[in-house]
Amino acid sequence: MIQNAILVFIFGAIVGSFLNVCIARIPKGASLVSPPSHCPNCKDPIRFYDNIPLVSYIFLLGRCRSCGEGISPRYFVVELLMASLAAALNYEFGLSLAFFVGFVFVAGLIVISFIDLDVRIVPDVISLPGIVAGLLFSVVARYVINDPFELIPSPLNALIGVLVGGGFLLALAWGYEAFTGVEGMGGGDIKLLAMIGAFLGWTSIPFTLFFASLTGSVIGLGFMIGKGVGRRFGLPFAPFLCLGALLYLFFGNELIQFYLPER
Ligand SMILES: [Zn+2]
Repeated sequence: MIQNAILVFIFGAIVGSFLNVCIARIPKGASLVSPPSHCPNCKDPIRFYDNIPLVSYIFLLGRCRSCGEGISPRYFVVELLMASLAAALNYEFGLSLAFFVGFVFVAGLIVISFIDLDVRIVPDVISLPGIVAGLLFSVVARYVINDPFELIPSPLNALIGVLVGGGFLLALAWGYEAFTGVEGMGGGDIKLLAMIGAFLGWTSIPFTLFFASLTGSVIGLGFMIGKGVGRRFGLPFAPFLCLGALLYLFFGNELIQFYLPER
């Protein structure tokens, strides 16, 4: 229904606005509730009518009303992303447990991706509770609410997902370090992949890892050629993992039939 889609889009934009606060404050260890939103440049509090998701950014042409300093387009992008993905989840799952779980998962992926892009950290305060939440949702979907969609894995599948996601990457990181002597994939990426396994089941891990490695290498290579930077310059990996997980979330069944056709 179109009314539902519009309401879900607006709700997604409002949540996106809160995600922006998380992205800006979690790396600093600052409180998420106080002080109220303010301009990062002049510290002036943002008036409530200038704090309407998506609309205010366009209306103010991306500038602070007090000092005129440009505000990062990230604020707009995050709101639009959360709103659009919420609408897509609603289209796919209606208003169901799968929608709710997908919504929480997507919100976590957005916060992790943009913090990694910003400060090259995958925050434990999102990924570790994310692992627990994914496991809990799988139990709820199996034993409490009979969820008609196949998005949420069985508790066993989710648990194996955590172990495969965490364990495989851990082994890879150890191997890489032993072989090359330099630290490879960060521990944050490993916890993120364990979280993805908890939400989407172990079958999501090979695809997510393959997709992230491929796109990450191509884009990393592009950067190296374009800017002439060295082999290791710390391309954030989490956004690629998150993108892979998102594709799996929406197209997982099709993808599984593609690489496991006998199922
Ligand atoms: Zn300002």
